[in-house]
Order: sequence, then structure tokens, then C-alpha cells
Amino acid sequence: MDAAPAASVTTPYAFPVPRNASAIAAQCKTLLAELRQGEAQLAQDSTPPGTDLLAALDAMTRRTEDTMGPLGVLVAVSPSKAIRDAADACDRDYQTYSSRFWQNAAVYARVKQVQPADDIERRYWRDTLDTFEDAGVALAPAQQQRVRELNDELTALTQAFERRVREDRTRLWFTSGELAGVPTGVLKAARRDARGRYRLGLQEATVFPVLENATQPATRERLWRAYLSLGGNANLDTLAALTQRRRELAQLFGQASYADFVLRHRMAHSEADVQAFLAAVKDAVRARELADLEVLRAEKARQLNQPLDQTVLARWDTAFYSERVRRATYAVDQEQFRRYFPAEASLRFVFRVAERLFGITVEPAAAPQTLWHPEARTYTVTDNDTKALLGTLFVDLYPRDYKFNHAALWSFRNVSTLAGRQPAAALIVNVSRQGLTLDELETLLHEFGHGLHALLSKTRYAGQGGTNVQLDFVEAPSQMLEDWVYDPHVLALFAEVCPTCEPVPKPLLAQARAARDFGKGMQFSRQHLYASYDLALHGREPADPLMLWAQMEGATPLGHVPGSMFPAGFEHIAGGYAAGYYGYLWSLVLAEDLRTAFVADRLSPTVGRRYRDTVLENGGQLAPGELLQRFLGRPTDSQAFFKALAR
Ligand SMILES: [Zn+2]
Repeated sequence: MDAAPAASVTTPYAFPVPRNASAIAAQCKTLLAELRQGEAQLAQDSTPPGTDLLAALDAMTRRTEDTMGPLGVLVAVSPSKAIRDAADACDRDYQTYSSRFWQNAAVYARVKQVQPADDIERRYWRDTLDTFEDAGVALAPAQQQRVRELNDELTALTQAFERRVREDRTRLWFTSGELAGVPTGVLKAARRDARGRYRLGLQEATVFPVLENATQPATRERLWRAYLSLGGNANLDTLAALTQRRRELAQLFGQASYADFVLRHRMAHSEADVQAFLAAVKDAVRARELADLEVLRAEKARQLNQPLDQTVLARWDTAFYSERVRRATYAVDQEQFRRYFPAEASLRFVFRVAERLFGITVEPAAAPQTLWHPEARTYTVTDNDTKALLGTLFVDLYPRDYKFNHAALWSFRNVSTLAGRQPAAALIVNVSRQGLTLDELETLLHEFGHGLHALLSKTRYAGQGGTNVQLDFVEAPSQMLEDWVYDPHVLALFAEVCPTCEPVPKPLLAQARAARDFGKGMQFSRQHLYASYDLALHGREPADPLMLWAQMEGATPLGHVPGSMFPAGFEHIAGGYAAGYYGYLWSLVLAEDLRTAFVADRLSPTVGRRYRDTVLENGGQLAPGELLQRFLGRPTDSQAFFKALAR
């Protein structure tokens, strides 16, 4: 609980790997005991509350991160079910404690009396009061009790939803004939039976290349249907329970919907604001989506040599025919990129982009750590000018059973200049050992972008560190970097990190750039649908998750496929992105505006440094609008976004 500034840290953060499940239970018990003790001190203290009270609260946040941060990573990556389950159990206990803590009226009353000394304190103070108020500190005891029960139930339901997706054991068998067209590299790691059939799971690294390349429609359909059943009916029930409890929670606070309840604290202030934004985007993408689909339908008719008016596009056709169009019209085959982007070199490449832009060095830690899996490793990030250690990055690159199936960044330990504490983050992805496509390289850079936000942040309070920004801003810094991979000047950095790697042929990249905008209509429409669905599900009218989805997806040009259940695997809205999915489109508007500063040179160290100093360093201690104003030298606007949409 000591908040005194510490001497600068020179050794990387040591990731604590628990020996077994009972070690986690013990850690958890110690954490809760210490938090209770800290809480009692805060409530009993009779000195007039000053800014040291905010520091003490942040010390509790840091103490919580010390234990809960690594456990949050382990739930996603530990090969041991006992460890994953124990970490989940600890999270439930912690959430139960946390619900009660934020209802502590004595602590709340003292925080309320604090007179913030500057803007950073004021923002932290206001955010803290919001947390107390959203936890029901001002409600009657019976309602407080109900809020706690609901929060406990929400934690358990979200965990169950995510567990079913992560621990899915669906395996499908395909003959080599059925897998015609699928690149051999994708199948290399697949188990085969005595008859030579391949066993495929539902990892993204397998599913997407098969959907893009398998020439047999029945193969694509079978895999698509399995993938769109991830989570199953059990998760649909869980999602229904989650939305019902979120609605009840919002109502306890006098809010008409859960969306309104959470949006009060976002850049978009209300459900109506988000609806207005989605309506403005919808017109711009609808026509474009229809045009994209017509191109795909024509390509299907051409390939199957059948009349256009008898050709119907199925959902499992879009990825496949998009690839055909990219190859036929733009001569681009994403698979061709794998040989130029070996997995390890790709990781070094995204590091190098950041090194060039932000004046840092990312390198393997001098002393290797024993982590949760032999393939996970530790990197340090240091400042080139001061040589000071800035933070620690853990990387887990390849797919394996029971591992989180997507790509994400865990910002699990936040910086605090107040405490002399350095940040640590974990980059968890699932790239193919056969190398990356250009799309996958873009994803890797995006996720590492969140890592930069976490590791280059220098905030006073851990509670405002790095990615602890408003949820509808958090994607912007990563989205900004996405189109860096299409710039030959940026890709030239590959030669520095991998002298033996063959450079991407200029024409291939030029074609990929030309092909990039194809399919944007379909892609944005899908994003728009997800955002609208999330908002409707968390809106004023109660709805059955699958019926609502079938109705909304049914109104799109490709319709709804009976039997498919996309919402059962929609982890974003089961977890922290509930009533927040629109944030991807919303922050893309901000990302496009940020890009305008890098038009002349995406690797400009001057602009990069200014960006690091204004946007990344400040994390959540300034409002996003203020960060953008400081970086761009003008208020942010949506001109660049609509210009890009029309491209
Ligand atoms: Zn992201």
C-alpha cells in the first residue's frame, strides 16, 4: 500500500507462474485480506481527505493488478485446466469483493471531499466517483444487495460463455479431396487418421484459410456451420441471462437500458448518439456492400459456368469468392505472402516499426523466464535516448489446444509514475508457423499497437495507464497502424530484421493495395450489423438473442442461415464490450484522423515522438478529444473517415 515513488526500475517484470491451483487460491486469499485491511484504513482514517487518498486508492488498484493481472493472462493461455479454473475462481471471489468495496459509503464520502489539485487528479477523482456511483453506493441497502448479486452472476456467466468457446472440442474430418484448394501449409500440423483424412479444429488459423480456399462448397459449408455454432445453445442461454441481468442492473439505477447505463461515461454519451452515428455510416456502406456482393455473385457464376440469374451467393461463399476476385482482378493471393512474412521475422518487423517511430528498442530479455508454456517469451522495451527500461512484453505466438483462439493484448499491469511502477503486457496471438498473410500481419501490428499504448504510457495513476481509456477510443491507436503494412517504405524494414527473407515483390504489394478496398462494403456492413445488434440487444426492449439476430441478419442482403448461431460465439458482447461494439467503427473515425499526421511519412520519428508524448504517454489521464487536439493541433473530425470510406 506504499505509494512513495520508487527508484527507477532496471529489471524486467518477472511473470509469476503459480505452481498449482492451490497456490492460486492462497494468493487470492492474501490479496483479499490485504484489500480488506486497506479498505478499513481508508474508511477509518480521520485526517482530512487529500490527494493522498487518491494515491492510496491507486495503490489498491496496483495491488489488485499484482495478483489478478497475471491470472487474467493465465485463464487465456495456461495449458493446465486446474490453473485456468483456479484463476477463474479467484476472479469470481475478487469481483464479489470489489462489488462490495465500491459500495463502501464511508470511503465514498471521504473521496467526495477531496479537492483535486490539477486536471489529472480531477479526472481520476471523477472516474473514481463514477465507479462508486455505478456500483450503487447511493442506493438503498436492498438494492445494493441486488447489485452485488447481479455483478456476481454476470462474472460467472461471462466466464462460462468464454470457457465454452475456448474449450470447444469440435473436430471435423475431411478427406484430401474435400480439402482441394487448401494450401498444404495450413494442413501440415493437422492430425490424420489411418484413411488419410485430416482432423481440423475451429482455430482461426485453420478456419479462415479453408473458407478462403477450399474449392468444394460442401467443405466450406460444413466448416462454416461448425464455426458458426461455436458456443452452442448453452451460450445462447447464457447470453440471454447476461442481457436480462444487465437490463435489471440498469433499471436499478433508473436507466431505461443497459446501453444508456454504460454510455454515460463514453465519448458517445447516449444510445441515441450511437444510433445517430450508425445511421450516418449506414448510408455510406449499404450501396457499397451491394456492389461488392454483385461482383462476388458474378465471379461465382463465371467460375461455375452458369447463368448469373441462377446464381445465389451463400454465406460460406463470400470469403472464397472474395479471394477469387482478388486473384482474378487484382492477381492477389493472400497465401502468397506467407513465404515473405515468416512468423518470427514478422514479430521482429512489428517491433522494428515501433522502434523507428517511437525511439525505443524491443529485444528479448537478457535473462530468460520460465513462463506458462515453453513457447512463450519475454521482451524488454527500452528508451533509446535515456536507455531506461520502459516495460516488459510477453509474447505467445502460436495456436495450441485450450488457448484463447483469437489475437489480443492483455494490458495486465499498468504504469504509475507515482509509484515508480513499470507496465507489463502480454501479446497473445495464433499465427501460422508457415508464416503470415498480409491480413494477418496487419492484425499482429494492430494487437502490438495496444501493447505500445500500454508500455509507452507514463501516467501518474495505474488506473489511467495505457489502454485504460474510454472504450470507444481504445481501438484508435491500433487501428491507426493497420494500413502501415501496405506501405512499401514500412515493409522495407523487413530487410533489417530478416536479411535472409526475400522481399515482397513490388507488384504483389501494389496489387494488394489495389485489392484492399475491395470488400470494404461487406466488411463495414458486418461491423455495422454487429454494432447495431449489440446495441439492440442491450437496448430498451428485451429480446431473445438468437431471434433478434436472425431478424437483423435476415434483413441483410445474404440473409440468415437457419441453424447458424453467431451470437453464441460473440465473446465481445458476452464480456467487456457489451453495448460497446460500435466502438470499433467509432474509433476508426478517430484513427483515420490520426493518420492524417503521418501522410508524408509513416515512419517519421518526429511525428512518432510527438504522438508518443501526447497520445500514448497520457493514457486515460486526459480526455480523448484533448489528446487528439494536442496531437493534431486542431479538434478532431470525421472528414478523413468518410473520405476513406468513399475510396
Ligand atoms: Zn484492438
